Amino acid sequence: MTTERVVTIAWLYGSKMNIYGDRGNVLALAQRARWRGIEPHVVVVGIGEAIPPESDIFFFGGGQDQEQIAVSHDLTGAKGAAIKTSVEDGAALLSICGGYQLLGHEYRPHDAEPLPGIGLFDIESEAGTERFIGNVVIDSQWGTLVGFENHSGLTFLGETATPMGTVQVGRGNNGQDRTGGAIYENAIGCYLHGSLLPKNPKLADWLLSAGLQYRSGEGDLDPLNDEIEQTAHASALQRAFATR
Ligand code: GLN
Repeated sequence: MTTERVVTIAWLYGSKMNIYGDRGNVLALAQRARWRGIEPHVVVVGIGEAIPPESDIFFFGGGQDQEQIAVSHDLTGAKGAAIKTSVEDGAALLSICGGYQLLGHEYRPHDAEPLPGIGLFDIESEAGTERFIGNVVIDSQWGTLVGFENHSGLTFLGETATPMGTVQVGRGNNGQDRTGGAIYENAIGCYLHGSLLPKNPKLADWLLSAGLQYRSGEGDLDPLNDEIEQTAHASALQRAFATR
């Protein structure tokens, strides 16, 4: 008898940290699991709520400074330590913009005290004077990734941090060193809203596979017909290069 394959997606602060279409990443992961007969369990983890012990994939979306202030004190301590332990044991994670910033060592907003991060990524972020808004293209291990950025935060990689890729269009981490995001084990942080995963199916499946591998030791995924996803990717790529 085949055991039912399940994947649990812990959506961190889904009601507060969820801007510029970021919820589309959770929908994409859940649907790409369903298309393979894998049952997705999406659990929104709010302030004061525990991380589900069986979390396989974490998603942490973007949010403005006020939302970041509200969640940052809840995140550090036991909750952050649990996320870090899971990632270091192989769980998958995707974080976007404000969520990404809070998974580093610190985020320094404009008009507030520095916010502590959990130190998952060896990065530090600070509010800049310019807001970076526009299409982004990053060369990465998954090919070109396309998305949309809207942030004033500048993120700088520490000595042990690995960038997720190299910016071809847009500003990326800081508009200075052409780094885009960061990767640590199976955890990704970046500034690509959009939402990112529906039109970057290779990255979506990489995260899904890593979460399943962590859950059951079996991460293989049947291929899907990604014609629509690839058409969306090509259209976003063309628009990004045309408007840079
Ligand atoms: N407040 C942060 C910034 O502007 C994050 C914003 C976001 O998540 N888009 O950099």
